[in-house]
Amino acid sequence: MKLICVGRNYVAHAQELGNAVPDDPIIFLKPETALLRPHEDFYIPDFSTDIHHECEVVFRIGKIGKAIQPQFARGYVDGIGLGIDFTARDLQSKLKEKGLPWELAKAFDKAAAVSEFLPMDQFTDLRNINFHLNVNGQLRQQGNTGLTLFSIEHILSFVSRYFTLKVGDLIYTGTPAGVAAVQQGDVLEGFLEGKKMFEVKVK
Ligand code: ZN
Repeated sequence: MKLICVGRNYVAHAQELGNAVPDDPIIFLKPETALLRPHEDFYIPDFSTDIHHECEVVFRIGKIGKAIQPQFARGYVDGIGLGIDFTARDLQSKLKEKGLPWELAKAFDKAAAVSEFLPMDQFTDLRNINFHLNVNGQLRQQGNTGLTLFSIEHILSFVSRYFTLKVGDLIYTGTPAGVAAVQQGDVLEGFLEGKKMFEVKVK
């Protein structure tokens, strides 16, 4: 399975990093070894001193798909969860400066926390899903999928022109504003529609 991630999908986040708003979704991949499964702790890696949390709604693919039409996209999703796209911002900034790919900053081991998944029948409108991230009990990031530049339908249609989607693939849909560095001892709690989805301890 693969993790497909969307960058700069929330305008306020693109702006906080001083990035232009894209015309097409910005896509990058993480390998399966990047998964941080529920109840695992996150260890700050030795190659970065500036690991940011990016809390994101995650869609799980339930059916193989290629060149999906947007109006049928919902049928390819079988669960919705919440995750963190951990990012070595210091490394990413250096790579971006040189015009190099982001993988070392984004796709390292355990860089993609993920919750359990809720069934699709709990969601009527995929463009109106509320989520938030607390760090040590304080609200740090808050979003609604209606604020994205690209809907999940558009993203699935776009990426499936390039990559065949397989059962179990995960789509990370971008982060709202409020990203910041994590510190040892932090506790990151993610909520989807008010329901607690994960708790990640930073070590
Ligand atoms: Zn992200």
